[in-house]
Amino acid sequence: MARSYEKSKQAYAEAINLMPGGVSSPVRAFKSVNMDPIFMESGHGAIITDIDGNEYIDYVLSWGPLILGHTHPEVVKAIAETAAKGSSFGAPSYTENRLAKLVLERLPGMEMIRFVSSGTEATMSALRVARGVTGRDKILKFEGSYHGHGDSLLIKAGSGVATLGLPDSPGVPADIARNTLTVAYNDLEGAKQVFEKFGAELAAVIVEPVAGNMGVVPPQPGFLEGLRELTTKHGALLIFDEVMTGFRVDYGCAQGYFAVTPDMTTLGKVIGGGLPVGAFAGKKEVMEQVAPAGPIYQAGTLSGNPLAMTAGYETLSRLDENAYEYFKKLGDQLEAGFRAAATKYNIPHTVNRAGSMIGFFFTNEDVIDFASAKTSDLQLFAEYFRLMAEEGIFLPPSQFEGLFISTAHTEEHIAKTVDAFHKVFAQLAK
Ligand code: PMP
Repeated sequence: MARSYEKSKQAYAEAINLMPGGVSSPVRAFKSVNMDPIFMESGHGAIITDIDGNEYIDYVLSWGPLILGHTHPEVVKAIAETAAKGSSFGAPSYTENRLAKLVLERLPGMEMIRFVSSGTEATMSALRVARGVTGRDKILKFEGSYHGHGDSLLIKAGSGVATLGLPDSPGVPADIARNTLTVAYNDLEGAKQVFEKFGAELAAVIVEPVAGNMGVVPPQPGFLEGLRELTTKHGALLIFDEVMTGFRVDYGCAQGYFAVTPDMTTLGKVIGGGLPVGAFAGKKEVMEQVAPAGPIYQAGTLSGNPLAMTAGYETLSRLDENAYEYFKKLGDQLEAGFRAAATKYNIPHTVNRAGSMIGFFFTNEDVIDFASAKTSDLQLFAEYFRLMAEEGIFLPPSQFEGLFISTAHTEEHIAKTVDAFHKVFAQLAK
């Protein structure tokens, strides 16, 4: 029997008059899959339940943060204990030291960190630092990458901007936009040409070391290394935006995995364990330019919030090397299952992976940048999303986002998901 989404429909009908598009963040509106949004009520481990009581195996995981699954008992307990002592002080709390030490231990190239409350704040602040330190204004980013919604970064952006097919956003001043240069992801030659022309004016290159906002697109061999060389040669800072990849791709983040050390790193998602957190980190000489140690201003009323710091600490401290082995094992099974089902029913497909970041595309082309990501059949994706939801599998409602796995996912969850691929592709093949 088809699932009922009646309560979600009612909630959405109310929300649409309360919030733009009925949501607090665009991709949640399910627009690109031609569906009304599903309102969620609770989550336990790998399973989430919507307000109509439908259950799903969750591959969204709040867009990445819930790497231990929903409501991990120890994380919940620690948050409750911290909350009982006070939710925010506007003065330092030791919870910040604990998380800072843990993050910096796992990122040997980074020496100091500043906590903020979102990934957007992290990237905006990192750019300010890069501009402040170098005294230069221009930056280079890659088409289809998303680095939050800061003015400088909403240029040729991925994620919801790509999902909704929006042009660069109104409201971004032209004077700011002209300082953001873009080339295709993985286009090292293009980046070299930009540096040849503007090398002395470039403050930074900001890059997702595995792109996760045009679907999942790993760096081609030599791409990150090439950016490292270029930035060093021209005196620009290399910023790895690890908001998504940080502690998701590997124990030492993408920079550990690919053995390329940036000058600065931006973080979010996993380091907040599902509470609002972001951070930017770098070498001491760079970070000591940040106020009050230095003149570059950046601040936040709720920055380093004790609840968020606790959720992040409890989450990160439960991720050891074995967790990433486990993700790889489950990821291998999911990928193999997807490929087998798609092949059986003649569905065009390409799979991109970086650990537990997984991108399925409905195209036979290699997906190496935004242009090739866009060759995916978006109609087919929308059908696939809806039918998978009917089978109790909750996927990101956008082709231009990746799937995530948590430690709470089991081989049984993966097997159920693979069964769903078979059922759904059989229907799509008709
Ligand atoms: N950078 C990257 C790589 C991201 O994936 C995101 C969010 N998906 C952001 C920055 C922005 O983070 P937030 O949504 O917390 O502002």
